[in-house]
Amino acid sequence: MSGYYLQVYGCQMNQHEAGLVRSILAADGFQETHDPSRAELLLVMACAVRSHAEERALGRLKSLRGLARKRPGVLTGLLGCMSADVRDSVVTERKADLVIGPDQYRRLPELVRAARHTKDQQAAGELTGENYDGIYPEARHPVCGTVTVMRGCDCRCSYCVVPLTRGPERSKQLKQVLAETEHLAARGIQDLTLLGQNVLAYDDGRADFTQLLREVSAVAGIRRIRFLTSHPKDLTKRVLEKIAALPKVCPALHLPVQSGSDRILELMNRPYTRQEYSDKVRLARTLLPDLGLTTDVMVGFPSETEQDLEDTLDLVKEVRFDFAYMFRFSQRPGTAAEKLGPKVSESEAGRRLAVLIETQNRITRERNHDMIGRSFELLIEGAASKGGGMLGRTRSNRPVVVYGDVFIGDVLEAKVTGMRGWTPVAEHFAAVAAAAPS
Ligand code: SAM
Ligand code: SF4
Repeated sequence: MSGYYLQVYGCQMNQHEAGLVRSILAADGFQETHDPSRAELLLVMACAVRSHAEERALGRLKSLRGLARKRPGVLTGLLGCMSADVRDSVVTERKADLVIGPDQYRRLPELVRAARHTKDQQAAGELTGENYDGIYPEARHPVCGTVTVMRGCDCRCSYCVVPLTRGPERSKQLKQVLAETEHLAARGIQDLTLLGQNVLAYDDGRADFTQLLREVSAVAGIRRIRFLTSHPKDLTKRVLEKIAALPKVCPALHLPVQSGSDRILELMNRPYTRQEYSDKVRLARTLLPDLGLTTDVMVGFPSETEQDLEDTLDLVKEVRFDFAYMFRFSQRPGTAAEKLGPKVSESEAGRRLAVLIETQNRITRERNHDMIGRSFELLIEGAASKGGGMLGRTRSNRPVVVYGDVFIGDVLEAKVTGMRGWTPVAEHFAAVAAAAPS
């Protein structure tokens, strides 16, 4: 039995991929340890979307390499999404014994053995269109689970490295998605999130996104279904009506806007205008009452002016998202935006980001405060991070802290009575029938 340690960077997609790697290693007799000083294989799963995340992954790899040097025979590996520059430097300067791209995880056990045996570095980065059919990623949470329905991306957002690091878009066969969903449901998962870079474009040759939702809805035991990410260009009235018609599909959208300036959206190669985006939000809010709406926004894109920033702030104030992931533009090798200028300085982009965060945080607090006095169906997901109580989530994906005798997996009808910091708190609740609607 061989012990491995795995450190993961990046988004929910990468966390899910880590489950895939764990499952592949477990099938080969590897056992995970949380103590790197006891492991024989030290792995870092990288994220190349922003340079900061990539640098952190490389920093961690370096420190694990230091640890490995003290114990002969211990191997280090860099896995996942990495830019070509990073891959080249890790390979040529031998910063890791294994360098394995997102389509090559099946080969991990074999490459570990080869590295042990030959003492040579093993690198496998080919993008082969792998969908990992037949592998059930290890799931750790007792009630919330994820299924990747698509891999890669065909959009060419000018800032984004994902199409280069993960290859072309492909949908997993519906049969496989259903098998993974049933597997999760059998483990007690009630809350399912379908993952892909643009799930609205799902097409396995037979089923589209709405059919996918209908079929996943039919899996017994699954109570709530969400999905991310949705590209605004593909959000249509038909899709919204289908979501509204399926009771298990939650009224929640993660709809990245990126910018409120039409000029910047065009430079980003995001094929919608600010007006089209807000019209879609209005339609979504009409068709899906109590919609939970989150977004991604970026500042400091090349040539962004004070007026472009104002347009973004204006959009944020108009739409009033529940929550936003907010970023400073990060130049990525090989992307179209690399050639655009003039660049916005790091310090100016930092100032703009701070203004954006302050604006959105105020809105998030106000929207949470507006929940006081209203009742919501909550699924209890775990202990609240600070200050006691349990954390539940509404169907529209909004967190609520509950005090009282409740347990993970409980479904409650709870009334929000106040706030703890930014988070709504519920003290009065009643259990909802345990069985998920069929
Ligand atoms: N496919 C999804 C989409 O289109 O919204 C999300 C993919 S990306 C991994 C998540 C978010 O990271 C993007 O929505 C964008 O806001 C941000 N992002 C991507 N590339 C970036 C870059 N070069 N600099 C800063 N943020 C970036
Ligand atoms: Fe990147 Fe755009 Fe694809 Fe999202 S949709 S992964 S931002 S290229």
